[in-house]
Amino acid sequence: MSELGAFKPYFLGPKSENEAWVRGQMQSVLDDWFDWRKGLFADDPTVITCDDQAAPGFALKHSMIGARLAELVEQLRGEVPTYSPRYVGHMMSELALPALLGHFAALLHNPNNTSKEASKVGTVIETEAVAMLAEMIGFNPKMARGHFTSGGTVANLEAVWRARFRMDHRLALALTLAEDHGAPLDVFAAAHMSSTQLRSLVAEHGVDDAAMRARSAVLGNPFEVAERITRLSGRPYRGPVLLAPGHKHYSWVKAANVFGLGEEAFWTVPVDAEGRLSLAGLAARIDEARVLGRPVLMVVSVAGTTEMGELDPVDAVADHLAMLREQQQLDIWHHVDAAYGGYFCALDPHEPLLAPARRRALHAVRRADTVTIDPHKLGYAPYACGALLIRDAECDAVSCFAAPYVERAELGAAPWTTTLEGSRPATGAAATWLTGKTIGFGPKGLGAVLRSTIESCRAIRSALAEAIPLVRPLDPTDTNILCFSVAKAGEALSSANARTAAVQARIAQSPNFSMSRTILSTAAFPDLIGAHVRSYNGRRDTNRLVLVRCVVMNPFWADPGVRARLIPELILELRGIIAEQAKSKARSAVRVS
Ligand SMILES: *Cc1c(COP(=O)(O)O)cnc(C)c1O
Repeated sequence: MSELGAFKPYFLGPKSENEAWVRGQMQSVLDDWFDWRKGLFADDPTVITCDDQAAPGFALKHSMIGARLAELVEQLRGEVPTYSPRYVGHMMSELALPALLGHFAALLHNPNNTSKEASKVGTVIETEAVAMLAEMIGFNPKMARGHFTSGGTVANLEAVWRARFRMDHRLALALTLAEDHGAPLDVFAAAHMSSTQLRSLVAEHGVDDAAMRARSAVLGNPFEVAERITRLSGRPYRGPVLLAPGHKHYSWVKAANVFGLGEEAFWTVPVDAEGRLSLAGLAARIDEARVLGRPVLMVVSVAGTTEMGELDPVDAVADHLAMLREQQQLDIWHHVDAAYGGYFCALDPHEPLLAPARRRALHAVRRADTVTIDPHKLGYAPYACGALLIRDAECDAVSCFAAPYVERAELGAAPWTTTLEGSRPATGAAATWLTGKTIGFGPKGLGAVLRSTIESCRAIRSALAEAIPLVRPLDPTDTNILCFSVAKAGEALSSANARTAAVQARIAQSPNFSMSRTILSTAAFPDLIGAHVRSYNGRRDTNRLVLVRCVVMNPFWADPGVRARLIPELILELRGIIAEQAKSKARSAVRVS
């Protein structure tokens, strides 16, 4: 087995090649589950007797369930075959076997990780799995906290929740000092004071909890608190802003909505010529917020953008924020949305497939306060499995509310008080745990699989571009997502867009391959779109760029046999679609004239 084939024991295979072994493992998990019941409380009475089972209606009911189940299973055969390398549409692919088996085992026991009482083992597995992910991204696993969520959207919301509570604490203290001690109120400075500064001010002025609670916008009335801030600071208080790059995921708009910020408070950070967060743009946005006296709730950088898989300069963002912290006592929350790209931290730190700047970006994920990562994307785990990783306890404070029936001292910190979601499964944690214990989250484990997907993405990119002159790959391709347009040299962007959209629509209907579509706007990506159109001497006559998007996360593309068979087929398919498209365009041109 070559290095390229290292993934082979870990996936079922497009032809169920590892069926016999998987069958055995599933069976032994089931056997254990049956035996567990039989062995525990061995003297308890049997409830469902042989007589019951022999009764006339009994078997009938079972065969009815069996028939309906068969119907369901039959329907599911119509489901999108995301396991196949032919599927390069969205961020879905074959599942890793340890993830599937871990999920399956936990599913049967069905613990509720809302509390340690409801989940004696599941919560321990979760803590261990969080430590594994934390270690992979470079957090100190002994200090780091975190938990599993239903996905990246919720993990992002969780980060905002924490940042908001921390800011509320600081503003409540500053308001207390202004109202009770006549201190001047500088909202921007106060909102970003360090924890050390907060503690020493509390101690110095003997501020008690009740005084701060009375000024909390989280606990009290936020409009009334804002009025008092306006009065004491001498300028209208307009609330905090959230800074995220122009390529951000839609979950950030949702976060603004959910936390009642108003979408106006969601400030877009410009991107650079290659489509990654612009540091100069970020610095300017922070200055702008300072001038307006609006605190920065958090700065978001993205490791693995949803559209293109790009890696923002997380290191430069961290450097800038460190500079503000050291030179201006401004401690601004840094969240890395690594929902997609977090697992690239498993690559070798010297991985030559990545440009040095991209390696530095990944290495700096560890400098964030909070990180979102989605095991149900590049962790090859079943849905729904996201995670929030938190650097240390200091960053993990959330507003508390009383619910005495769960809040009992012997339980310790009940997880439910610090998670947005209430009842939570242990399946995602178990899937991640088993993947980490077996494939491993290092360069030889999952890193090798992900490395091969980057390599596959490049192979597909160059094969298509070489064989089909109209295929114009978008630069850069940082990781394993390929975007391209279908454009003729010299033509207007609007007609290239129409062709690209038509080609993608045809692929979407084709049974052979699946690719998705994305549309970039010049408002968010002015220079990137310009550069792309220039690459074929095109003319920019519209504000959008339509792209075919291929998420090459399927591990089977690493196999030479798969490439030898599917790449030529893909080329034929695309050529055919493009030719057909040109014909139908010519036909409609004749009709029009
Ligand atoms: C996928 C993704 C999310 C949202 O994750 P879900 O699991 O779909 O909720 C957020 N941010 C980025 C960058 C993503 O790629």
